[in-house]
Amino acid sequence: MNAWEKNIRNVKPYVPGEQPADKSVIKLNTNENPYPPAPGVSRVLNNMDTDSLRLYPDPTIGLLVDEIANFYNVKSDEVFVGVGSDDVLAIAFLTFFNSDKKVLFPDITYSFYPVWCDLYRIPYETQALDEDFKIVKEDYYKDNGGIVIANPNAPTSIYEEIEVIEDIVKHNPDSVVIIDEAYIDFAGESALSLTSKYDNLLVVQTFSKSRSMAGMRIGYAMGNPKLIKALNDVKYSFNSYTMNQTAILAGVEAVKDKDYFEMVIQKILNTRKKAESSFRKLGFSFPKSGTNFFFVSHEYIPAKDLYGLLKENDIYVRYFDLPRINNYLRITIGSDEQMKVLFDFIEKYISKIQF
Ligand code: PMP
Repeated sequence: MNAWEKNIRNVKPYVPGEQPADKSVIKLNTNENPYPPAPGVSRVLNNMDTDSLRLYPDPTIGLLVDEIANFYNVKSDEVFVGVGSDDVLAIAFLTFFNSDKKVLFPDITYSFYPVWCDLYRIPYETQALDEDFKIVKEDYYKDNGGIVIANPNAPTSIYEEIEVIEDIVKHNPDSVVIIDEAYIDFAGESALSLTSKYDNLLVVQTFSKSRSMAGMRIGYAMGNPKLIKALNDVKYSFNSYTMNQTAILAGVEAVKDKDYFEMVIQKILNTRKKAESSFRKLGFSFPKSGTNFFFVSHEYIPAKDLYGLLKENDIYVRYFDLPRINNYLRITIGSDEQMKVLFDFIEKYISKIQF
Protein backbone atom coordinates (compact mmCIF):
# COMPACT_ATOMS: atom_id res chain seq x y z
CA MET A 1 0.00 0.00 0.00
CA ASN A 2 1.30 3.48 -0.89
CA ALA A 3 1.82 5.94 1.94
CA TRP A 4 -0.90 8.20 0.56
CA GLU A 5 -3.36 5.33 0.57
CA LYS A 6 -2.97 5.00 4.33
CA ASN A 7 -4.28 8.56 4.58
CA ILE A 8 -7.50 7.84 2.77
CA ARG A 9 -10.65 8.08 4.85
CA ASN A 10 -11.86 4.53 4.92
CA VAL A 11 -15.62 4.25 5.03
CA LYS A 12 -18.21 1.60 4.29
CA PRO A 13 -20.83 3.52 2.34
CA TYR A 14 -24.61 3.32 2.58
CA VAL A 15 -26.04 1.29 -0.28
CA PRO A 16 -29.14 2.88 -1.80
CA GLY A 17 -31.83 0.82 -3.52
CA GLU A 18 -31.39 0.11 -7.20
CA GLN A 19 -32.57 2.57 -9.88
CA PRO A 20 -32.98 0.32 -12.94
CA ALA A 21 -32.73 1.98 -16.37
CA ASP A 22 -35.62 -0.15 -17.61
CA LYS A 23 -38.73 1.92 -16.92
CA SER A 24 -41.08 -1.03 -17.31
CA VAL A 25 -39.90 -2.48 -13.98
CA ILE A 26 -42.52 -2.41 -11.19
CA LYS A 27 -40.41 -0.38 -8.81
CA LEU A 28 -41.39 -0.92 -5.20
CA ASN A 29 -37.89 -0.81 -3.70
CA THR A 30 -37.14 2.79 -2.67
CA ASN A 31 -40.41 4.16 -1.26
CA GLU A 32 -40.96 6.64 -4.05
CA ASN A 33 -44.40 8.03 -4.76
CA PRO A 34 -46.18 6.47 -7.79
CA TYR A 35 -47.94 9.76 -8.62
CA PRO A 36 -46.39 12.84 -10.25
CA PRO A 37 -45.53 16.03 -8.34
CA ALA A 38 -48.08 18.88 -8.11
CA PRO A 39 -49.01 20.36 -11.53
CA GLY A 40 -47.35 23.66 -10.60
CA VAL A 41 -43.98 21.88 -10.60
CA SER A 42 -44.15 20.99 -14.29
CA ARG A 43 -45.44 24.49 -15.06
CA VAL A 44 -42.44 26.11 -13.41
CA LEU A 45 -39.99 23.67 -15.03
CA ASN A 46 -41.48 24.18 -18.49
CA ASN A 47 -41.27 27.95 -18.11
CA MET A 48 -37.84 27.97 -16.48
CA ASP A 49 -35.89 31.13 -17.33
CA THR A 50 -32.58 29.49 -18.13
CA ASP A 51 -30.85 32.89 -18.20
CA SER A 52 -31.31 32.96 -14.42
CA LEU A 53 -28.95 29.96 -14.23
CA ARG A 54 -26.03 32.29 -15.02
CA LEU A 55 -26.27 33.46 -11.44
CA TYR A 56 -25.60 31.59 -8.22
CA PRO A 57 -28.78 30.64 -6.41
CA ASP A 58 -29.84 32.40 -3.19
CA PRO A 59 -27.59 30.82 -0.52
CA THR A 60 -30.30 31.33 2.12
CA ILE A 61 -32.84 29.41 -0.06
CA GLY A 62 -35.20 32.17 1.09
CA LEU A 63 -38.17 31.53 -1.22
CA LEU A 64 -38.45 27.88 -0.26
CA VAL A 65 -37.69 28.44 3.42
CA ASP A 66 -40.49 31.04 3.57
CA GLU A 67 -42.97 28.79 1.76
CA ILE A 68 -42.26 25.85 4.09
CA ALA A 69 -42.51 28.16 7.13
CA ASN A 70 -45.84 29.40 5.84
CA PHE A 71 -47.16 25.86 5.25
CA TYR A 72 -46.25 24.68 8.77
CA ASN A 73 -47.10 27.96 10.47
CA VAL A 74 -43.61 28.47 11.90
CA LYS A 75 -41.14 31.33 11.45
CA SER A 76 -38.56 31.34 8.65
CA ASP A 77 -35.70 31.24 11.16
CA GLU A 78 -37.10 27.90 12.36
CA VAL A 79 -36.60 26.22 8.95
CA PHE A 80 -33.46 24.78 7.32
CA VAL A 81 -33.52 23.40 3.77
CA GLY A 82 -31.10 20.91 2.20
CA VAL A 83 -30.54 18.55 -0.72
CA GLY A 84 -32.92 15.82 0.41
CA SER A 85 -33.27 14.82 4.03
CA ASP A 86 -30.09 12.75 3.68
CA ASP A 87 -28.20 16.03 3.25
CA VAL A 88 -30.10 17.66 6.13
CA LEU A 89 -29.42 14.67 8.40
CA ALA A 90 -25.75 14.51 7.38
CA ILE A 91 -25.32 18.19 8.29
CA ALA A 92 -27.32 17.71 11.50
CA PHE A 93 -25.09 14.80 12.61
CA LEU A 94 -22.00 16.93 11.91
CA THR A 95 -23.48 19.90 13.77
CA PHE A 96 -25.08 18.35 16.84
CA PHE A 97 -23.33 15.05 17.53
CA ASN A 98 -20.05 16.56 18.54
CA SER A 99 -19.20 15.09 21.95
CA ASP A 100 -17.29 12.04 23.16
CA LYS A 101 -20.52 10.51 24.42
CA LYS A 102 -22.38 7.89 22.45
CA VAL A 103 -25.21 8.83 20.11
CA LEU A 104 -28.22 6.53 20.54
CA PHE A 105 -30.57 5.08 17.91
CA PRO A 106 -32.51 1.82 17.47
CA ASP A 107 -30.78 -1.36 16.27
CA ILE A 108 -33.24 -1.60 13.39
CA THR A 109 -33.65 1.74 11.66
CA TYR A 110 -32.47 3.79 8.70
CA SER A 111 -29.13 2.18 7.87
CA PHE A 112 -27.56 5.53 6.96
CA TYR A 113 -27.25 6.54 10.66
CA PRO A 114 -24.27 4.29 11.47
CA VAL A 115 -22.64 5.30 8.16
CA TRP A 116 -22.70 9.01 9.07
CA CYS A 117 -21.44 8.17 12.56
CA ASP A 118 -18.52 6.23 11.08
CA LEU A 119 -17.79 8.96 8.52
CA TYR A 120 -17.61 11.64 11.22
CA ARG A 121 -16.10 9.32 13.86
CA ILE A 122 -19.10 9.82 16.15
CA PRO A 123 -19.34 7.11 18.82
CA TYR A 124 -22.75 5.43 18.89
CA GLU A 125 -24.68 2.65 20.58
CA THR A 126 -27.76 1.00 19.13
CA GLN A 127 -30.72 0.23 21.37
CA ALA A 128 -32.68 -2.96 20.60
CA LEU A 129 -36.28 -2.56 19.51
CA ASP A 130 -38.58 -5.00 21.35
CA GLU A 131 -39.82 -8.22 19.71
CA ASP A 132 -42.64 -6.28 17.99
CA PHE A 133 -40.07 -3.79 16.63
CA LYS A 134 -41.31 -1.07 19.00
CA ILE A 135 -39.06 1.45 20.73
CA VAL A 136 -38.24 0.80 24.39
CA LYS A 137 -38.28 4.40 25.57
CA GLU A 138 -36.45 3.70 28.84
CA ASP A 139 -33.37 2.74 26.77
CA TYR A 140 -33.02 6.42 25.94
CA TYR A 141 -32.95 7.63 29.55
CA LYS A 142 -29.17 7.19 29.85
CA ASP A 143 -26.39 9.72 29.33
CA ASN A 144 -25.72 10.25 25.61
CA GLY A 145 -24.21 12.51 22.95
CA GLY A 146 -27.47 12.84 21.01
CA ILE A 147 -30.42 10.78 19.81
CA VAL A 148 -31.84 10.11 16.36
CA ILE A 149 -35.14 8.35 15.85
CA ALA A 150 -36.98 7.74 12.60
CA ASN A 151 -40.72 8.07 13.21
CA PRO A 152 -42.35 6.29 11.48
CA ASN A 153 -39.38 3.96 11.53
CA ALA A 154 -37.84 2.41 8.43
CA PRO A 155 -37.77 -0.35 7.39
CA THR A 156 -40.31 -1.49 10.03
CA SER A 157 -43.03 1.04 8.95
CA ILE A 158 -44.08 1.48 12.60
CA TYR A 159 -45.30 4.86 13.87
CA GLU A 160 -44.72 5.56 17.55
CA GLU A 161 -47.29 7.78 19.21
CA ILE A 162 -46.23 11.36 19.87
CA GLU A 163 -46.27 10.66 23.64
CA VAL A 164 -43.37 8.20 23.24
CA ILE A 165 -41.37 10.80 21.32
CA GLU A 166 -42.15 13.52 23.86
CA ASP A 167 -41.13 11.23 26.71
CA ILE A 168 -37.72 10.64 25.11
CA VAL A 169 -37.19 14.35 24.38
CA LYS A 170 -38.27 15.25 27.93
CA HIS A 171 -35.71 12.83 29.41
CA ASN A 172 -32.89 14.32 27.33
CA PRO A 173 -32.71 18.08 27.89
CA ASP A 174 -28.89 17.97 27.59
CA SER A 175 -28.63 16.60 24.06
CA VAL A 176 -30.15 17.27 20.67
CA VAL A 177 -32.88 14.83 19.69
CA ILE A 178 -33.43 14.45 15.93
CA ILE A 179 -36.73 12.98 14.79
CA ASP A 180 -36.48 11.83 11.18
CA GLU A 181 -40.03 12.14 9.84
CA ALA A 182 -39.49 11.08 6.22
CA TYR A 183 -42.83 9.20 6.30
CA ILE A 184 -44.84 11.27 8.78
CA ASP A 185 -47.45 12.42 6.24
CA PHE A 186 -48.68 8.80 6.00
CA ALA A 187 -48.83 8.36 9.77
CA GLY A 188 -50.04 10.57 12.61
CA GLU A 189 -49.10 13.65 14.56
CA SER A 190 -45.71 15.18 13.82
CA ALA A 191 -43.24 16.07 16.56
CA LEU A 192 -43.25 19.57 15.05
CA SER A 193 -45.92 20.46 17.61
CA LEU A 194 -43.31 19.85 20.34
CA THR A 195 -40.59 22.11 18.94
CA SER A 196 -41.97 25.23 20.67
CA LYS A 197 -41.77 23.39 24.00
CA TYR A 198 -38.35 21.74 23.59
CA ASP A 199 -35.47 23.81 22.19
CA ASN A 200 -33.30 20.67 21.72
CA LEU A 201 -35.71 18.97 19.30
CA LEU A 202 -35.07 18.96 15.54
CA VAL A 203 -37.70 17.54 13.17
CA VAL A 204 -36.51 16.48 9.70
CA GLN A 205 -38.84 15.89 6.75
CA THR A 206 -38.57 15.40 2.99
CA PHE A 207 -40.20 16.12 -0.39
CA SER A 208 -39.18 12.64 -1.58
CA LYS A 209 -42.19 10.65 -0.40
CA SER A 210 -45.48 12.50 0.17
CA ARG A 211 -44.58 15.28 -2.28
CA SER A 212 -43.43 12.92 -5.08
CA MET A 213 -40.10 14.68 -5.61
CA ALA A 214 -37.35 12.19 -4.77
CA GLY A 215 -35.59 13.19 -8.00
CA MET A 216 -35.47 16.88 -7.10
CA ARG A 217 -33.68 16.28 -3.76
CA ILE A 218 -35.33 18.57 -1.20
CA GLY A 219 -35.38 17.99 2.55
CA TYR A 220 -35.86 20.31 5.50
CA ALA A 221 -35.49 20.58 9.24
CA MET A 222 -37.62 22.54 11.68
CA GLY A 223 -36.78 23.54 15.22
CA ASN A 224 -35.61 26.28 17.54
CA PRO A 225 -33.81 29.20 15.74
CA LYS A 226 -30.61 28.37 17.66
CA LEU A 227 -30.58 24.87 16.13
CA ILE A 228 -31.33 26.28 12.66
CA LYS A 229 -28.54 28.87 12.95
CA ALA A 230 -26.09 26.14 14.00
CA LEU A 231 -27.08 24.07 10.94
CA ASN A 232 -26.63 27.07 8.65
CA ASP A 233 -23.23 27.89 10.16
CA VAL A 234 -22.03 24.36 9.37
CA LYS A 235 -23.63 24.43 5.91
CA TYR A 236 -21.87 27.73 5.07
CA SER A 237 -18.61 26.16 6.25
CA PHE A 238 -19.06 23.35 3.76
CA ASN A 239 -20.93 24.57 0.66
CA SER A 240 -22.87 27.85 0.48
CA TYR A 241 -24.99 26.94 -2.53
CA THR A 242 -26.47 23.57 -1.72
CA MET A 243 -29.83 24.07 -3.43
CA ASN A 244 -29.93 24.75 -7.15
CA GLN A 245 -32.25 27.42 -8.56
CA THR A 246 -34.49 24.90 -10.32
CA ALA A 247 -35.08 22.89 -7.14
CA ILE A 248 -35.90 26.04 -5.16
CA LEU A 249 -38.59 27.14 -7.65
CA ALA A 250 -40.04 23.64 -8.10
CA GLY A 251 -40.09 23.10 -4.35
CA VAL A 252 -42.07 26.31 -3.81
CA GLU A 253 -44.75 25.11 -6.24
CA ALA A 254 -44.98 21.72 -4.54
CA VAL A 255 -45.53 23.25 -1.10
CA LYS A 256 -48.11 25.76 -2.36
CA ASP A 257 -50.50 23.08 -3.61
CA LYS A 258 -51.96 21.74 -0.38
CA ASP A 259 -55.03 20.20 -2.06
CA TYR A 260 -52.91 18.12 -4.44
CA PHE A 261 -50.62 17.05 -1.57
CA GLU A 262 -53.58 15.84 0.48
CA MET A 263 -55.21 14.12 -2.51
CA VAL A 264 -52.05 12.10 -3.30
CA ILE A 265 -51.62 11.03 0.31
CA GLN A 266 -55.26 9.92 0.43
CA LYS A 267 -54.78 7.82 -2.72
CA ILE A 268 -51.81 6.04 -1.14
CA LEU A 269 -53.69 5.49 2.11
CA ASN A 270 -56.57 3.94 0.14
CA THR A 271 -54.18 1.59 -1.64
CA ARG A 272 -52.53 0.78 1.72
CA LYS A 273 -55.87 -0.26 3.18
CA LYS A 274 -56.62 -2.61 0.27
CA ALA A 275 -53.06 -3.96 0.25
CA GLU A 276 -53.29 -4.88 3.93
CA SER A 277 -55.98 -7.48 3.24
CA SER A 278 -54.26 -8.71 0.06
CA PHE A 279 -50.98 -9.32 1.91
CA ARG A 280 -52.83 -11.05 4.73
CA LYS A 281 -54.79 -13.31 2.36
CA LEU A 282 -51.53 -14.37 0.71
CA GLY A 283 -50.03 -15.47 4.05
CA PHE A 284 -47.92 -12.46 4.98
CA SER A 285 -47.62 -10.96 8.44
CA PHE A 286 -46.50 -7.39 9.01
CA PRO A 287 -46.61 -4.56 11.53
CA LYS A 288 -49.32 -1.94 10.99
CA SER A 289 -47.90 0.41 8.40
CA GLY A 290 -47.72 4.12 9.17
CA THR A 291 -45.81 4.73 5.94
CA ASN A 292 -45.96 4.33 2.16
CA PHE A 293 -44.50 0.82 2.45
CA PHE A 294 -45.06 -2.53 4.14
CA PHE A 295 -42.56 -4.63 6.06
CA VAL A 296 -43.70 -8.16 5.36
CA SER A 297 -42.70 -11.69 6.21
CA HIS A 298 -44.28 -14.76 4.60
CA GLU A 299 -45.43 -17.80 6.56
CA TYR A 300 -43.34 -20.20 4.48
CA ILE A 301 -41.60 -18.46 1.54
CA PRO A 302 -38.18 -17.19 2.69
CA ALA A 303 -37.86 -13.44 2.09
CA LYS A 304 -34.58 -13.76 0.23
CA ASP A 305 -36.07 -16.28 -2.21
CA LEU A 306 -39.13 -14.15 -2.86
CA TYR A 307 -36.95 -11.07 -3.35
CA GLY A 308 -34.91 -12.88 -6.03
CA LEU A 309 -37.97 -14.34 -7.70
CA LEU A 310 -39.75 -10.98 -7.86
CA LYS A 311 -36.64 -9.36 -9.27
CA GLU A 312 -36.31 -11.96 -12.02
CA ASN A 313 -39.83 -11.00 -12.97
CA ASP A 314 -39.16 -7.26 -13.00
CA ILE A 315 -40.79 -6.50 -9.67
CA TYR A 316 -38.23 -4.77 -7.44
CA VAL A 317 -38.63 -4.72 -3.64
CA ARG A 318 -36.03 -4.20 -0.90
CA TYR A 319 -34.34 -6.95 1.07
CA PHE A 320 -31.91 -6.31 3.93
CA ASP A 321 -29.61 -9.18 4.83
CA LEU A 322 -29.27 -7.94 8.40
CA PRO A 323 -29.75 -9.55 11.81
CA ARG A 324 -33.40 -9.80 13.00
CA ILE A 325 -34.87 -8.65 9.66
CA ASN A 326 -33.42 -11.07 7.12
CA ASN A 327 -36.77 -12.79 6.63
CA TYR A 328 -38.61 -9.55 5.77
CA LEU A 329 -39.18 -7.58 2.61
CA ARG A 330 -39.81 -3.86 2.48
CA ILE A 331 -42.38 -3.23 -0.22
CA THR A 332 -43.32 0.28 -1.34
CA ILE A 333 -47.01 1.04 -1.86
CA GLY A 334 -47.29 1.73 -5.58
CA SER A 335 -50.39 2.52 -7.61
CA ASP A 336 -53.38 0.12 -7.45
CA GLU A 337 -52.28 -1.25 -10.84
CA GLN A 338 -48.72 -1.93 -9.67
CA MET A 339 -49.96 -3.61 -6.49
CA LYS A 340 -52.25 -5.83 -8.57
CA VAL A 341 -49.29 -7.03 -10.65
CA LEU A 342 -47.42 -7.83 -7.41
CA PHE A 343 -50.32 -9.66 -5.77
CA ASP A 344 -51.27 -11.58 -8.94
CA PHE A 345 -47.67 -12.74 -9.33
CA ILE A 346 -47.39 -13.95 -5.71
CA GLU A 347 -50.78 -15.64 -5.85
CA LYS A 348 -49.82 -17.51 -9.01
CA TYR A 349 -46.48 -18.52 -7.51
CA ILE A 350 -48.13 -19.83 -4.34
CA SER A 351 -50.71 -21.82 -6.30
CA LYS A 352 -47.88 -23.38 -8.39
CA ILE A 353 -45.76 -24.47 -5.43
CA GLN A 354 -48.80 -25.93 -3.68
CA PHE A 355 -49.31 -28.50 -6.45
N1 PMP B 1 -34.90 9.02 6.38
C1 PMP B 1 -35.47 7.84 6.16
C2 PMP B 1 -36.01 7.08 7.33
C3 PMP B 1 -35.57 7.32 4.86
O1 PMP B 1 -36.11 6.11 4.64
C4 PMP B 1 -35.06 8.07 3.79
C5 PMP B 1 -35.18 7.54 2.37
N2 PMP B 1 -34.14 6.72 1.98
C6 PMP B 1 -34.45 9.29 4.07
C7 PMP B 1 -34.40 9.75 5.37
C8 PMP B 1 -33.80 10.13 3.00
O2 PMP B 1 -34.69 10.61 2.06
P1 PMP B 1 -34.33 11.82 1.13
O3 PMP B 1 -32.86 12.08 1.18
O4 PMP B 1 -34.79 11.41 -0.23
O5 PMP B 1 -35.11 12.99 1.67
